Amino acid sequence: MTKKEVRLTTETWQPTTIFPWHHFVWQIVLTAWQQNRLPHALLLGGPPGMGKLSFARHLVSLLLCEKFFSSSLTEAKAGEMVAQPCGVCKGCHLLQSGNHPDFFMVQPAEAGKQITIDQIRELIQFCALTSHYGRYQIVIIQPAEAMNRNSANSLLKLLEEPPPKNLLFLVSHQPGALLPTIRSRCQRLDFNRPDSVVIQRWLQPQLPRPLEAKWLLQLTANAPLAALALVETQGLNKRQELFDNLAQLATGKANPINVAETWNNWEVPQVLQWMLSWTMDLIRYALSSKEQFLVNQDRREVLPQLARHIDWRQLFKLLELQQETYRLISGGTNVNSRGLLEVIAIAWFELNIQPQRK
Ligand SMILES: [Zn+2]
Repeated sequence: MTKKEVRLTTETWQPTTIFPWHHFVWQIVLTAWQQNRLPHALLLGGPPGMGKLSFARHLVSLLLCEKFFSSSLTEAKAGEMVAQPCGVCKGCHLLQSGNHPDFFMVQPAEAGKQITIDQIRELIQFCALTSHYGRYQIVIIQPAEAMNRNSANSLLKLLEEPPPKNLLFLVSHQPGALLPTIRSRCQRLDFNRPDSVVIQRWLQPQLPRPLEAKWLLQLTANAPLAALALVETQGLNKRQELFDNLAQLATGKANPINVAETWNNWEVPQVLQWMLSWTMDLIRYALSSKEQFLVNQDRREVLPQLARHIDWRQLFKLLELQQETYRLISGGTNVNSRGLLEVIAIAWFELNIQPQRK
């Protein structure tokens, strides 16, 4: 097969960066690179909102930049955070226009869908070629947990006998969901939740007043990009609306089918994370009667009122249902998210709370 027959699935290249909290993983990669012992497969694992894909893309842009590759690498010091592709060489231009013949991106056709075996077959064909520019051929698979069993087994064969000069970056929010045999053939780069001082310093200047970085990070369990996305995507408004919906459902003031349809148009994993945090707050209050333990502090008026009227066993059932749904949805499998959300909305509706009037 010639180069031209391989369909590249690159899209227009997004600007990339290495964030301040990537310092540690960057040192690991840079040192390996300088010693010419980059592993053929890296597994970039960690919770959503840590910038794993941005890090992988940045590595690609450095590895395929002709100028960075030839000169800066030997000069770059471990820990130096300024490593940038030149932006003007042929390699950089090809990558920016989505046409670099030595780069291949594998991702589901739509968010929430699987990575199919045909996509992995295309990837294997790509890896069997020789590099167009005599250096690396690089692949990003993201999210790697979206591979179904057949796709994963097919990839495994490639990982067992990797062709020379190929680099595979597997990006995963749930590395534990991958086949153990795949995990063991990749070098792991863990994107752990960073030091809160570092991310507050990064986040605060980007926020409109009077929003507090500390509060947003608390809502997103210290995932910096998720915290920023809350502001940039009107996420905070949706979160408010979701909490209103849950309170209305529980008191019979909203229709579960309509509400589930609205939620399904939002980013469903995020909706479920908020629901889980809301339910955990209700459980915290039901078991402690203390407002200071609540995570959603901006809702400390409403949460205790609701918690007083719900049996804590029902709350645990809701928690379990939502956790299971979250696992299904974020597992990248083909699931009917709307149907699953309807089940949750109906469960809230069935709480059938009749708050006593004061
Ligand atoms: Zn360049």
